[in-house]
Amino acid sequence: MRQLFGTNGIRGIIGDSMGPELALGIGSAFGTFVGRGKRIAVGRDPRHSGEMLSQAFSSGARAAGCDVVDLGFLPTPALQYYLKLRPTFGGGAIITASHNPPKFNGIKCVGREGLELSSEAEEEIERIYFSKKWHSAAWDACGSYATDEGAGAPYVDGVLSQVDAEAIVKAKLGVLLDCANGAACHTSPGAMRMLGCRLSTINGHPDGAFPGRMPEPTEENLKELVALCRRVRPDIAIAHDGDADRATFIDDRGRYVPGDESLAILAADTVSKARGGIVVAPVDTSLVVQEAVAAKGGKVDYTAIGSPIVTKRMRDLCAVFGGEGNGGAVFPKHQFCRDGLMSAAGMLDVVVRSGQRLSDIVDALPKFERRKLRIECPEKMKAGAMRAIEKRLGDAVTIKVDGLKIVDGEGWALIRTSGTEPIIRVVAESRSASSTEERVKSLRATVLEALGDAASGSAR
Ligand code: MG
Repeated sequence: MRQLFGTNGIRGIIGDSMGPELALGIGSAFGTFVGRGKRIAVGRDPRHSGEMLSQAFSSGARAAGCDVVDLGFLPTPALQYYLKLRPTFGGGAIITASHNPPKFNGIKCVGREGLELSSEAEEEIERIYFSKKWHSAAWDACGSYATDEGAGAPYVDGVLSQVDAEAIVKAKLGVLLDCANGAACHTSPGAMRMLGCRLSTINGHPDGAFPGRMPEPTEENLKELVALCRRVRPDIAIAHDGDADRATFIDDRGRYVPGDESLAILAADTVSKARGGIVVAPVDTSLVVQEAVAAKGGKVDYTAIGSPIVTKRMRDLCAVFGGEGNGGAVFPKHQFCRDGLMSAAGMLDVVVRSGQRLSDIVDALPKFERRKLRIECPEKMKAGAMRAIEKRLGDAVTIKVDGLKIVDGEGWALIRTSGTEPIIRVVAESRSASSTEERVKSLRATVLEALGDAASGSAR
């Protein structure tokens, strides 16, 4: 059981649960895990605490005998691409809290060739950290320190090589790009110019306080961008999260495109080019992805929630595409991790090759209604409650990779316990609002009855 690593690295609040002591220890543990004499790449997003944590992590890794190459400020996928191009490196770390508010920061460790670490690897790093059994190199065996600020250009070239850049340049698309004052500021604007876009940029300078908007590209946080789009009317607007491994979109009619719909568009296009194949997505992904993929001859495989789980499954199944409904898409021909610039370039590619406007592509997708529900459940009752729910639902449960999922001809529903709050979450989706409402109402009753079972002990 991991205590520090969450679904995407270690996160915490600066001055509280995250600081240089932790970064130093994790650096030593990661360096020991990777092995003395190996090289490690370290990068960061523009948070104010980034340099402090990066230096502490690097010191720990060097004390364990690893040579550190500091890539400075860059997107998470650019660090991963740097490692992909350098298979002799032992791995790397990016200091980022992704979409979290500015008071947070985090440490995301990645393995060789930029691949996501398995949960077993993270457990091993934690074991070394908590036991303090890290390697302490002698005076003449401490690791070296070098900088390389040239990681951005090969990364941008790598992304552009995956799309029909010539056709996109000819189309001269009007693009409004929102970098969130985050890690995309030095890569995405240049890439869009290389693609011949008529580019306007907002929140385009790096600032770890995220003064323009909060770094999560949700519809709520992008209200001002949506309003701007309705005045300026670009062909497409692109919004990154803080570390630029995600991209969300606003269409030419100034409408926010839900993440599941942009995932469906990118997935269907990739499957169409590959003439079939498997797309991997978490269990809570909308049916719009499954239907769009099936229409092009592909199939969706569902995993537990968490992008490292999705990418691991993609590698196991040789999937052609994968991702999550939060704007995180994985293009394995490029690399096996979420990549915001790749998603953005991929979407421009789809729009140009289709000859349609993004709004037409969005409108052609099947539409589904989704409802969410939170039901309070004390931490200690969660396991018993889930057993009782499963007992009550019986054969209706068809997928158990993460929580309990019911799928039928009308739609689906998922019941999961929260990893961070004392609640059980219910999500349901189907074609009509009334059917979804019905589904949620019935599952609410089932969960409440099951909580009663668990409290009285009858679920054992
Ligand atoms: Mg992110």
